[in-house]
Formats: sequence, C-alpha cells, structure tokens
Amino acid sequence: MKKVLKLCLFTALVLSLNLHLSWGDQQKQPLQYRQEPAPVTTHQVKGHVYEAKGGSGANCGFFIGEEEVLVIDAKMNAESAKQMIAEIKKLTPHPLKYVIITHSDGDHVNGLVGFPEGITVVAHHEARKDMDQAFQEPDQRAFLPQLTFSEKLKFYLGNKVVKLFHFGPAHTSGDVVVYFPEEKVAFLGDLLFLGRDPLVHRHKKGCSFGLVKTLKKVLKLDAETFVHGHGNLASRSDIEDLIKSLEDKQAKIKALIEEEKSLDEIKQAFGVEDRPAQPGRRRWLSLVEVIYLELTEKK
Ligand SMILES: [Zn+2]
Repeated sequence: MKKVLKLCLFTALVLSLNLHLSWGDQQKQPLQYRQEPAPVTTHQVKGHVYEAKGGSGANCGFFIGEEEVLVIDAKMNAESAKQMIAEIKKLTPHPLKYVIITHSDGDHVNGLVGFPEGITVVAHHEARKDMDQAFQEPDQRAFLPQLTFSEKLKFYLGNKVVKLFHFGPAHTSGDVVVYFPEEKVAFLGDLLFLGRDPLVHRHKKGCSFGLVKTLKKVLKLDAETFVHGHGNLASRSDIEDLIKSLEDKQAKIKALIEEEKSLDEIKQAFGVEDRPAQPGRRRWLSLVEVIYLELTEKK
C-alpha cells in the first residue's frame, strides 16, 4: 500500500515537473533523471471518441469517423506519437486525416513530426503563431498548421459533426475546445487541471479571467464528459468547482490589493513559494502572481 502511494507521489512529481519544463528543457536533463514514460494506451470515452494516455506528453484523443480518423493533440515526441498511431491502427483501418491542436505547448504539439505526411494540422491562429516561432527545424515546419480559425469551425466526417471553439485567451491565447455533440464529450486541452492550480501562460497571452469566461462557455455546451491534458476524465461539477475556486482566488486577491498589500504579502497570504528560474529558463508564475498582475497592470 505504502509503495503504491510513494509511486503515485513520484508520478505526480514527475508529471508536475513535465508540465513546467519545455521540451527543450527536458532534452537538457541528464539521462538518469529522465523518466521512462508508460506505454501509450487507448480507451473509449464514448461512442466513436477515444482517449490516448501514456507516452511522453499530454493525454490525446481521437475520433473514428466512417472513413477517416481525426486526432486531438500529438504527444511530445515522434516516438510517442508513433506509438499512439499504432494503437489507433489496432482499432480502425481508416487513415488519419486531421490533427486538431488544442494549444501550442510542446507536450501537445512536438510529436507532430511522428505523424504521416499529408495529414491536415488544424489550430487556432494564435497557436500557429507560437508554433511558427518554436518549430525551427525543417521536419517540424512541415507540420505547421495548414488550417487555422478564430472562433469556431465545424468538421463533417461522413454524417458526424465535430465542432471546434475558441472562447478567448485562457490557458494561452490560442486554446481550442473540441466538441462531439453526439457523444456529449469535449476535449479541453489544458483549460482544466484537477487537484492543482490551473496554469495560465502569460508569455502566451493567457489570462485567468479569460479562463473563467472560457470555462463558463464550456458549461453551455451540451457535454457531460471532459477530456483534458493531464488527468482523468472530468465532469461538469469538476468545471464548476474550478470556476468557483478561480473566482474566490481572484476576489481575495482583489480585496488584498485594495488593502494595499504588496505582491509578496499576497503571495505569503496564499502560502505561495516561488521557485527561482533556472539559468536560461523562464520563471514560472504562480496563479496568485498571474491574477495579481492581471488586476494591477494598466489597461
Ligand atoms: Zn499546456
């Protein structure tokens, strides 16, 4: 029992480390610290919608249409992407036609290089801008999104409809929600984290108030099951809980700012301990600091 708990804690630690390191950072880690990822496994979420967990990178998903497959996110390296594709091939002979990118973080997009040539990569136009900067190698540039959109996009796969939405800046400025109306399933990328503060990437123009708005719009979809990048399937009440905790935090921080508390005092009030940035790396801002900055910056 103890062993299991330790293993869980270790996995959680590795997972949180993974979330905070870019792909480049991970490559720089000494070999002995690199974790051997669990093999990619797939499971049916509902109807034609599946989730692919394991491997390097975030949870991905796919939809098996009548003639083709639509994939959601791409894992973090070619090897894990290929493993995922091999698992998909066990379930269907249909070719992979589209990959929808939920946002531009490396653990969701760097595996694109493992996909078959000729696949159509779809993203929000802001996510494509980030990828355009990050993808410098010719093999990566071949997988820059060929199709982008701003607010919504509908796919028809035979008789099935898949809807994409962008509800404004949230985790990043280019988040996409992938909604399957028939199955009442939505993929949220990193718009949702369970059991920890959500990440808001200010360097990608993410916004905590935008995240609340986006999550409220997600709840307006007729969806019951939510797949997200780094945890188990979520329900509507998980989203409601996250909205509440974000709004509580925003209100408390606003009140402390009105009492003229400094950022350091506010961090202390929330028990936030900053990890200093490692040389050459970006300092990761806590949610408390992100909210403080959003509330105090000049509009
Ligand atoms: Zn992310």
